[in-house]
Formats: sequence, C-alpha cells, structure tokens
Amino acid sequence: MSDSSDKQPLVLKVAVNVPLSREFDYLPPKDGPAPAPGCRVLVQFGPRRQVGLVLAHAAESELAPGKLRRCLEVLDDTPLLAAEDLKLIRFTSSYYHHPIGEVVAAARPALLRQGRPLHPVVETVAVTDLGRAADIEALTKRAPRQAEVLETLCDAGGDGLEADHLTELLPNWRRAAKALFEKGLIERFDARSPEFDETLAPAATPGPELNDDQQAALATLRGGKDVDAFLIEGVTGSGKTEVYLQRMQDVLDEGRQVLVLVPEIGLTPQLVARLRKRLGIEPALLHSGLTDNERLAAWRAARSGAARLVVGTRSAIFTPLKNPGLIVVDEEHDHSFKQQEGLRYSARDLAIVRARNLGVPVILGTATPTLEMLRHCQSGTYELIRLPTRAGGAKPPTMHLVDTIRSPATDGISEPLAAAIDNHLGAGGQALIFLNRRGFAPTLICSSCGHIEGCERCDSRMTVHARSRQLRCHHCGAARPLPDTCGECGESVRPLGEGTERLEDALRDRFPGRTVTRIDSDSTQRKGAMVEALDLAKEGEADILVGTQMLSKGHHFPNLTLVGIVNADQGLFGTDFRSSERMAQSIVQVAGRAGREQRAGEVMIQTAFPEHVFWSTLIHGGYEQVAAEALTEREASHWPPFTRLALVRAAAHHRGDAMGFLELAQQSLLAWCGDNLRVLGPVDAPMARKAGRHRGQLLLQSSDRPTLHAALRELRFTLEQAPAGRKVRWSIDVDPIELF
Ligand code: ADP
Ligand code: ZN
Repeated sequence: MSDSSDKQPLVLKVAVNVPLSREFDYLPPKDGPAPAPGCRVLVQFGPRRQVGLVLAHAAESELAPGKLRRCLEVLDDTPLLAAEDLKLIRFTSSYYHHPIGEVVAAARPALLRQGRPLHPVVETVAVTDLGRAADIEALTKRAPRQAEVLETLCDAGGDGLEADHLTELLPNWRRAAKALFEKGLIERFDARSPEFDETLAPAATPGPELNDDQQAALATLRGGKDVDAFLIEGVTGSGKTEVYLQRMQDVLDEGRQVLVLVPEIGLTPQLVARLRKRLGIEPALLHSGLTDNERLAAWRAARSGAARLVVGTRSAIFTPLKNPGLIVVDEEHDHSFKQQEGLRYSARDLAIVRARNLGVPVILGTATPTLEMLRHCQSGTYELIRLPTRAGGAKPPTMHLVDTIRSPATDGISEPLAAAIDNHLGAGGQALIFLNRRGFAPTLICSSCGHIEGCERCDSRMTVHARSRQLRCHHCGAARPLPDTCGECGESVRPLGEGTERLEDALRDRFPGRTVTRIDSDSTQRKGAMVEALDLAKEGEADILVGTQMLSKGHHFPNLTLVGIVNADQGLFGTDFRSSERMAQSIVQVAGRAGREQRAGEVMIQTAFPEHVFWSTLIHGGYEQVAAEALTEREASHWPPFTRLALVRAAAHHRGDAMGFLELAQQSLLAWCGDNLRVLGPVDAPMARKAGRHRGQLLLQSSDRPTLHAALRELRFTLEQAPAGRKVRWSIDVDPIELF
C-alpha cells in the first residue's frame, strides 16, 4: 500500500450512540482500507469505547488535524447497511429530530449494536450419550432441578438448545447444570448462530377465487398508478388479506422480497400461519419475542435475500432488504406502529417514505383508516380502494344500543346483554364481551369516608387486581398488597367499577356450566399462553370470551356471533381531538369479530348516552360517516391532518425544573411564532405527576411543514446545549398520537 501521508486524509463521519444530534469525525485505522459507509467501527468516545457506524466519507473535518483521532478497529469487512438503509436512517433522524446515533442503534439488532459479528457463535447446551442413558426418575428424587434441566435437553434432541432459550424455559438452569457438566451428562459448545430456513413451509395452497370487488382492488394495485401509497379500506372480513396475498405473489414471482408490517406478532399468529400456508414460504419473523440470536438470524436473512418474505412489528421497517418489491402495512390505524418513547417514529409513515425511496409500492390496509391517511386519499396523493362488503357471503353484524340508565348493569352486564348472551349460546354461537380495562376494578373506595386508594408516585388511582390480591398502578407499575380496610379511617373498603376480572367472575356466576375465558395482558403473560387461549377460542372451546383490545385485533373466531361492548362511553366526551375517531375504530374492530361465517352477527353496545349523535352516525353511517364528519370538524378547528403537531415534553423531580426548561424552549421558539407556527403552553401534562416526576408540555402547531421543521431543528440544538436540560428528561414528539 502506498504511503497516504502526502494525500488528503480521508475523514469518516461516524454515528455514535449518544444523545447528541451530530456526527463525529474519525480517521480510519492506520493500516488497511478505510471502512465503507455502512460498516461498524470501534471508536474511543470520551472515556469509553463505543461501537459506531460509518455514515459517509468526507475530504475534510471541522476539527483541526491534530485533534482528529483514529478509530480503533473496523468491525465489518463489508457494509452491514446499504446506501438505501442509511438514507432511511438519515431521514428518520431529521424528521423526528432525534440524534442519528440513537436512530442507528434503534435500527439494528441488539447483538450488532453491541459490536458482535454478523455471524456470532452461540453458546449451546446439549445432552450427551451418557446423559441420555441416565436414570431420570432416580435423579428427580435426589436433585429435581438437575432432572428438569436434563429432561428439557433430552426433549431438545441432538442439536441442543441455545443457552438463551434454556434461560427462557428454566431461568436458573445454570446452577443445576454445573453438576450435570461435571458428571458428563450434558455438554456445552459454541455453535454457529442458527440460519433462517426457508424450506420449513408447506407447499402453497390456493385461496378462494376473488369476488368482483377484490378483483377490481387487485387490478388497481397492479395498475401501477404513480401514487405514494394504496389504502385499502375494507370492512372487517371483506377479504383484504386475500387481495394483499395475490399482489404479494406477483412480487415474489418476480423474485423480489415483500416486507409486511403488523401491529403485534403475538396477536396475529393467524396471519402469519396464513401467509406461510398460502404462499408456501417461510416468513422471516422480526418481533420482540425472539432471542437476540434468532432476531439477528432473521435480520441477516432479510439482508442477504435468503428470506423472501419478512414479517415484523414496528422496528422491522429498518430491516435491510436485498431486493425489495413491496411493503404492506396491515391494520394501518393501530397505535403500536408509533413508538411512544425514545425515538418516537411511526413505522407506517416510514414505510411510505421508504417505499418512495425504493420506488416500490406500499399497501396500507384497515377497516378503520386514520384520518391522516384518508386526507391523503382526498388530496390524491394516495389511492383509496374500497371493499364495502364481506367476502364469502357473510353479512355485516347488526348493532344495537343498550341504555344503561333504563337497564342498569350489575357487575358490568345489563339484562338485555345477558339475555342476548343466553340466546346466542343457546343457538350454538359464541359471545365476546369487550372491556378495555384489565384488573378487577379501576378503583378501591372506602365505604365510610370515601377515601380512594391512589398511587404514591402518580396522579392516578390504583387498580384492584383480585387474582393476585394487589393494588396496581397501570401508569408506573407500582404494586402493593390489597388492603381489607381503609388506610385513612380503618373502615371497610370496596372495589368500584369493573375490569375484565370482575366481568369474568360475573359471567361465570350467571352462566354456570359455560366456559368463560379471559384474554388480556394479565392472563397471557406466560409465553405461549395467548396462542393457546386463542386456539381454544377458535375451536369453539370457550363459550364466552372476555377481554381487552387484545381480542379485537384481526382474529377470526368462526363461531362467534355476539359481541357485547360493556363500557362504551369512555370516548364520548374525551378531551383529545382524536376521541371520536379512536372510539369508532375500537368499536368497529371489535364488532368485526362477530358473524364472520354463516351465522349473522349481533353487536350490543351498553351506553348511558344512547341519544348522543355519535351513535346514530356510527350505526347508520358506519365508520366511513364518522370519519367524514370528523374530518370536517378537524378542518374547521385546525387540527391534524389539516395542521401538523409536535409536542415537547419535560419531566423532572421538581415542577419548576420541568416548567423552567419548557419556558426556555418557548423563548427559543419566539422568533418563529406567527401565522405559520403557534406555540401553546407550557402547561402541566394531563397527568401531571407520573412515576414520581412532574410533567409538563409545550405544543407546536403549524400548517406549514418546512417552518415547523426548521423551528424544531433550532429548538433541538438549543435544548441539547441548555444546562437546564441536565435535571430534566425531555423529548420531542413529531406527529404525536397522544397529547399527554
Ligand atoms: P379481511 O382481511 O378483510 O378481514 P380476509 O381476507 O381475512 O378479510 O377474509 C375474510 C374471510 O373471507 C376469510 O375466511 C377468507 O378466507 C374469506 N374470503 C376472502 N375472500 C373470499 C372470496 N373471494 N371468496 C370466498 N371467501 C373469501
Ligand atoms: Zn403510579
């Protein structure tokens, strides 16, 4: 190699995982070629060594030559990320005003973030021949924990188990394993990390012949119109998935990859099973339930092109793809596409940006599109495709209101709802009772002095959890034993209102002999519990299902004919401008579970305000009408999607610190304020104290995106420099979906 000292030294622009909105300059190591953009390097950053990512090469640096440090090591021979991936990372950083090093960190699997190689070795444990011959029964008597480990490894077979997997199954296995290693009953070795195997799927099975609406939809998708996105608004059961499947097949046949984003894989095992079966392709899955090695294997397969179908939750939007051909976002309206902490990105919105960068189509599908997406369709930048009727002849469910003033509910269930449950079960159907509140009761009140048990760290009430006999705060996670008497006056206390546990009990009492199954995040904590419960429900084993939002998403229960919505009033008088949109989405989604096959479905909604105009709009005009009216209101009141929002949040142990910081933010925005930018606040957050911190916020509203972003860029810079920021946790949330 020639001596490079006479040449202009090449400067590496490196992203380092620190909360500063800038890139850092380093020189390449003395020996060897300069790492290309997309490669990782090890750098000295202050007192620590950090894994950085080379974003670009530059001819010069703002730093004086003597101040530039060399990077310590190059970690990749070939770039992990392609130019397109880096472009998406840059966009994400600039649009969400978030430090690029943190974006890079969020966009990569944990093992790569930690500097591990693309193909790491994996600690693996397996049973030996000696171990297989061991007398497990005798061992069980002497050393039950050792027996448990040995048995698990016997079940796992000759390849053994990844140590991480074993930890998941038996958290304390290492202690018991020590003796087993010494006796030679099990062994440990380093295996190559598991490779994704595409041949696992069965052969493809054809789907139903598409009906006229579906064919028209497919023709539009194939027409290749130059729009930023296709939005399929199809009523639940209209056969949207069949339409995506056909379009996916086209793209796969061309030898290109398909990326499917879903709200939560744990909640949609059916969709994954259906993709596998219909396309005959094993999807590479990317979601939070994987071990780090499994996640990396799926990521690698997407990057190398070995996986043709990639299905994942939110963060899968950053997965590199060798040869992308299509992106699908299923259930576009779902909130889980927006990350609510750290890098507050919307995977749906990034999907649209990424598809445009790649020049490939993106399909968004839902029965209840967000107003943001509908607005794009109105203005012609997206193409709206409607599937107004259910496929395969199933009828839409009929909706009734139950007036809970005239027919009061006991433990959440009114007489008309109980009678309907009786009818539907009698006719061989299944019922789903929906209440978006877990626990036994949302409040514990003293019968004598009226004292309500609150959270010590939040401005919130403690929820009664009867199964675990605890009071829990659903905001900060605090828990304490359920008291029998009032902490203030010593008299007896009682739970007020209802959650899913209480409903479950009430339904068991009312319908003895029937199976009642509760599905919420408490009942499904054990890994696999969710899938088991859903499978039983689908096979018709559960007569009555009780649950939260979890039950409303995408499931197909063939026998389900009745949906009861217990407390529908939460959103009627909500203060958030999105209240009615959300409430309509949630009701339409859960109602969509009813009557998906031959038997007609019925939906009963308990409300204390049956005269409210929301109900007549929803029942007579459907989601489409609610959305149309909400759009008109939003336009008149200048809310999104007619304006754009950003929220600056601050939290501190002392209110003054949080508010002082926000006042500083407000000051620095003054120069930008005017017709194009309004700044509202600072004000206390709706829940002013959470997890022991005081929270305040500042809302930016603008009808002009460039102005908003220019202001935010300067704001970010000011806030990162501000000494006041050290006492405060703060964040910028662009396009917030929660205003608190
Ligand atoms: P969505 O995604 O809109 O909820 P799906 O694609 O899941 O709808 O279809 C709902 C049900 O209707 C599924 O059981 C599916 O197999 C069936 N289905 C879809 N399209 C057709 C069709 N053209 N003919 C018959 N059945 C269909
Ligand atoms: Zn709390």
